[in-house]
Amino acid sequence: MRRFFIEPEAIQGDQAVLGGGDAHHLLHVLRLKSGEEVELFSGDGLVHRARIEGGDRDRVQLRLLSTSDTPPGNLAIHLAQAMLKGKKMDLVVQKCTELGVVAIHPYLSTHTKIAAPEPGKIERWQRIILESCKQCNQPWPPTCLPARSFDQILSQTGTHDLRLICWEQAAAPPLRHVVEGLAKPASILVMIGPEGGFSSDEVNQARAAGFLPVGLGRRVLRAETAAIATIALLQYIFDDLL
Ligand code: SAH
Repeated sequence: MRRFFIEPEAIQGDQAVLGGGDAHHLLHVLRLKSGEEVELFSGDGLVHRARIEGGDRDRVQLRLLSTSDTPPGNLAIHLAQAMLKGKKMDLVVQKCTELGVVAIHPYLSTHTKIAAPEPGKIERWQRIILESCKQCNQPWPPTCLPARSFDQILSQTGTHDLRLICWEQAAAPPLRHVVEGLAKPASILVMIGPEGGFSSDEVNQARAAGFLPVGLGRRVLRAETAAIATIALLQYIFDDLL
């Protein structure tokens, strides 16, 4: 069944109105007709099965038929990803959404190869998040925060139970050794570096701020691979592949 995101405010009782680009897509690209059913995601864990009742150019009226409610997971993983060049960040955003991260925190660090996010990038990633959620039936879309500096990530993320910085240098103990045996955290922040990696200074700063350096083995992974692998491994270690 076709899926659409809808603002919760666009639902009143059992009536919903889909507007803008989505209405155009539903009516003129997919050519769905009155009487056909779609799924509406309101971004808060609710998924509504709804029947199209009518529509004009950029408005579709729907009647809700049933609603299912999925609670949020009990391991909230946040990804702090240094901004990557080209389309690599798109891949990270898409795959980490599939895996179920709660938020993506883009940031700029010493060896980041781009000076500042291009205009419209955050909006682009938000669109990728919604597309990915529709594709993988994820009713809790992650938030993509505005880009920050490395220092801001260190100083503004102190509320997480566990903060990890992935570092490919031999000095970083293996991920499993660091986290195994810890009580299951409610919230983890994972920090992955840019293509150029972290400076030792940055790792020391992160350590001083309470981050634990962790390694993923002797192979140097692309940042994209490191992000995806770390999230999946944490879910496995903390038994969150439910
Ligand atoms: N400094 C490197 C490569 C950085 S890889 C160089 O230019 O040779 C990009 C990011 O992926 C790193 O900052 C780190 O966060 C993560 N990463 C890659 N391989 C890793 C590994 N084996 N262990 C832990 N983190 C790794």
